[in-house]
Amino acid sequence: MNVTEIFETMEYGPAPEAAAPGLAWIQEHSPFSLFINNQWVEPASGQYIDSINPATGKPLAKVAAATNADVDTAVAAARAAFETWGKTPGHVRARYMYAIARHVQKHSRLLAVLESLDNGKPIRETRDIDIPLVARHFYYHAGWAQLMESELPAYEPVGVVGQIIPWNFPLLMLAWKIAPALAMGNTVVLKPARYTSLTALKFAEIVQEIGLPPGVVNILTGEASQVGEALVRHPGINKIAFTGSTDVGRSIRRATAGSGKKLSLELGGKSPFIVFDDADLDSVVEGVVDAIWFNQGQVCCAGSRLLVQENIADRLIEKLRVRMEHLRIGDPLDKAVDIGAIVSPGQLKQIQELVNQGVEEGAVMWQPSWACPTEGYFFPPTLFTDVSPATTIAQVEIFGPVLVSMTFRTPAEAVELANNTRYGLAASVWSENINLALDVAPRLKAGTVWINCTNLFDASSGFGGYRESGFGREGGKEGLYEYVRPKWETIGPTDGHAKAEAELIAPGNVSNGSDGDVEAAQDGNRFIMTEEEDNEDGRDKSGPYVALPSIDRTPKMFIAGKQVRPDGGYSRDVYDPQGRLIGQVGEGNRKDIRNAVEAAHAASGWAFGTTHNRAQILYYIAENLSVREDEFTRRVVQQTGRSYADAAAEVQVAISRLFSYAAWADKYEGVVHRPPLRGAVLAMPEAIGVIGIACPDEYPLLGFISLVAPAIAMGDTVVVIPSQQSPLCATDCYQVLETSDLPGGVVNIVTGDRDALSQVLADHDDVEAMWYFGQAEGGKRVELASAGNMKRTWVNYGHPRNWMDKVQGEGDEFLREATQVKNIWIPYGE
Ligand code: NDP
Repeated sequence: MNVTEIFETMEYGPAPEAAAPGLAWIQEHSPFSLFINNQWVEPASGQYIDSINPATGKPLAKVAAATNADVDTAVAAARAAFETWGKTPGHVRARYMYAIARHVQKHSRLLAVLESLDNGKPIRETRDIDIPLVARHFYYHAGWAQLMESELPAYEPVGVVGQIIPWNFPLLMLAWKIAPALAMGNTVVLKPARYTSLTALKFAEIVQEIGLPPGVVNILTGEASQVGEALVRHPGINKIAFTGSTDVGRSIRRATAGSGKKLSLELGGKSPFIVFDDADLDSVVEGVVDAIWFNQGQVCCAGSRLLVQENIADRLIEKLRVRMEHLRIGDPLDKAVDIGAIVSPGQLKQIQELVNQGVEEGAVMWQPSWACPTEGYFFPPTLFTDVSPATTIAQVEIFGPVLVSMTFRTPAEAVELANNTRYGLAASVWSENINLALDVAPRLKAGTVWINCTNLFDASSGFGGYRESGFGREGGKEGLYEYVRPKWETIGPTDGHAKAEAELIAPGNVSNGSDGDVEAAQDGNRFIMTEEEDNEDGRDKSGPYVALPSIDRTPKMFIAGKQVRPDGGYSRDVYDPQGRLIGQVGEGNRKDIRNAVEAAHAASGWAFGTTHNRAQILYYIAENLSVREDEFTRRVVQQTGRSYADAAAEVQVAISRLFSYAAWADKYEGVVHRPPLRGAVLAMPEAIGVIGIACPDEYPLLGFISLVAPAIAMGDTVVVIPSQQSPLCATDCYQVLETSDLPGGVVNIVTGDRDALSQVLADHDDVEAMWYFGQAEGGKRVELASAGNMKRTWVNYGHPRNWMDKVQGEGDEFLREATQVKNIWIPYGE
């Protein structure tokens, strides 16, 4: 056969990688024990499960089936190790991590072979992608261990982390979890997926080899119902990091609700692959191969929805079919194989069922003419055309080599179709027009957008989802925050930091009123002045003065920029600390919240305005608040019974805080990553969308401002439940907001029962995040309810914070909670 003929047929001879070293290693170790405290420990149950080679269907090894008792032992080991590891200097941790990276490289071929044997993925992928990325992850995070003290000085490790990983990238997911955890000084107990434990066990050997202190990394193999659930519920664990299906992610969210455990979830996806008519179609075809046939399509961010501009659809589909005809499926250890085996018979069955459903729903299915191997679990590359966007195969994650294609006409239609999913993990945009691609990328609701490329990953660039694809990021600096917490949380809200900002504002600097003059402030909202009270205000009553009843100021709700009556027509009384009635506010209900959420969504254009404009409006709010400083001070005094000077300090800090977020509005910017490719990755913090906010009772004005200002500064729109006990500062803000050019719907305020209204917000599928500052029980309910659409939550677990303190009351933590990072990959060159 000559070269021209080879190009014509695209046929290769077999190029098998030797299985022998991998099989020998397995034989030497099987049955595998658990890895606890750097020791190989037999499982308490004495039970083992089979690990199967998916390419043959035959058993490869036996691995230990851990149970509750083993989880207890491993968590105790990790907890003991944390005492030392958490205090080990960053440089020392960096050395260990560097050693891990080096040893991964030293054993790279064995790891690649084991991964292919155990998972069924082609050796080309394990050798060239998975294992190099594992090493890169440890190198990169060794750097963060080194830099933690200088770059994250206000943070400390979380503690013991329970990590649960899936089978699709067994060792890579381990690296994504373990590297940042160790870098930040945590210890871990990791559970690999039942089907794919072998490379995690080889990794355990590396841990021993490099002499990592015992207990820092513990690996428990076994079943989800035994190990996974026990880890999730274990009281000795401070954080759960999970990658897997959205359903299990949702159950973990519910199981950890209210426990105070930190949680990051990397879940499913149905990522769009958008092709505009000016794209280079030959590159697109190769892109599709990488998007959906890489790892047999068992990739959470697989480009499984092909969206093609209508005028080129036929041409592209034809090219794709030709390419599919030439894809090679078979022995994963054959270096010339494109598609390996599906991980398990269960997964294979699920793929087949969904494909059958697609056919039943009327889509047109196409598969190449060649047949799959009959031994093992294989499924051919499959293409669906004539797919309607609402059908099951267009909406459900198939997690197999199945591509569904749809067409669009305009960029706007492409964006709408792309976002027509409950997921939001990744997207690819293909166009030779970079202006068009960069215009579309920010409008896609996805954590990663690849421009003219797909399925690129690097430790420097965070990865994670929007919406039901989960929350939290892995990789990049943003990923580190999943494994740390602010130091002040350990010290407690009242100790430690001085009230730095508050102290700047000495009582003498306050322009109005007298210290401790509680009574003087009582006239803020009283209904009728008594004569006695009337005399107190010092005005000259000798002229033709008639004591008039004050004009009623009963506030309404603030929705879509308008003051509206509560839907239910009920009001609730507001009392001062002595139990005196000082006003009434509307009793908000489900309908008010629904209206407010609708208004907040209608104002979503706020996120796309200029940051300069957002800054201007925040300054203007500060200015208008400052004009009414005395009035707000009196209102704080009236509601809290605190001294005038103390209340004045609260108002001044609130004004200063508005200035801070006006400053941050055009300065909280992204970064440009330089991963090892010709190109750049733009990491852009984006608004989350609609955030529900339940305000604390302490510091009724400052609590409100401290939460609303960062959210709107970052482009979010909000539905706010002000302090239940002292809502009048927030309702007094209506006029301030109305006179500050804030577009209607950006801030919506619904007064009433904090927990009842929070529940409605947390249940609401169109609310993208929920912040709750109230009682522990209320926070738990918010976390539980958030599992519905997997919205991000930020709750205080009943712990107060010192809102006057700059460290606790403003800054980075707030800005991070108000944003999510989108990574846009832009390769260079022709
Ligand atoms: P799962 O989500 O069930 O499994 C992922 C990991 O979680 C495994 O280690 C699993 O253990 C563990 N686990 C399962 N249930 C629990 C639980 N209740 N508590 C704690 N841990 C648990 O994925 P599957 O393997 O069952 O795959 C099913 C579907 O999930 C796929 O078809 C695909 O759609 C999606 N998926 C998505 C992934 C992603 O990267 N986003 C990865 C894998 C799957 P064990 O292996 O012992 O069951």
